[in-house]
Amino acid sequence: MRPFLFAANWKMHLGPAGAAKFLETFLKAWPGATDGREVWFFPPALSVASVRRRIDGRSGLAVGVQNVHWEEQGAFTGELSVPMVAEAGARAVLVGHSERRHVFGETDEMCRRKVAAVLRGGLTPVLCIGETLDERERGETLTVVRRQLDVLAGSDPAAAARVIIAYEPVWAIGTGKNATPEDAADVHAAIRNHLREVGVDGSTARILYGGSVKPGNAQALVSQEPIDGVLVGGASLDPADWLAITQVPG
Ligand code: PEP
Repeated sequence: MRPFLFAANWKMHLGPAGAAKFLETFLKAWPGATDGREVWFFPPALSVASVRRRIDGRSGLAVGVQNVHWEEQGAFTGELSVPMVAEAGARAVLVGHSERRHVFGETDEMCRRKVAAVLRGGLTPVLCIGETLDERERGETLTVVRRQLDVLAGSDPAAAARVIIAYEPVWAIGTGKNATPEDAADVHAAIRNHLREVGVDGSTARILYGGSVKPGNAQALVSQEPIDGVLVGGASLDPADWLAITQVPG
């Protein structure tokens, strides 16, 4: 049983006051956790406390951060560590989002260290993987996602059971284009198989799809058996759109 997960990546939007306003609107209309569905918010780190205050005590809701450093403390100006974000209430961390990889130059090795730090700190890593348009056109999608998953090899198996994967083709993020539900499901199935090869239980790991998910296409995606939910950027910034996405029939 893999409960559906709807994850909102707010990127560099919604500071503490904006996050509070969003949640007031969203929570007024949200019917609560039905069918074990979970709704997680990844606001800017500065807004974690604001989100946490509003969701505390409500089942099915959690807050996380969009990035961490792998060291616990030290001379790393501008960075945040896993123990710090945990203390602020974060339960999960996005690792290797395509903007981190392609705008900030994060490598697989950096992602490997971050996933290990998140697992060590008892939080849940959401490892984001996906191919660029060039890689897709060269037929390299599966090679790329397998290489990106290899960062999990050697993780402690009990901790690795917490890992969540978000398959986000880079060409689909924020572009209005998305993979067909069938194409996405095929890649998800390949990811599930490769997880076993790197020592993660592919039958229980949740694998999300991300890339231009909207109220109008979310249902077709989550109704595919290997897709366990969605990671959403743009459409998660509108409380009505986000509510509609979290309520699509599965
Ligand atoms: C994302 O930021 O992870 C994402 C999928 O963005 P969007 O939904 O805007 O494509």
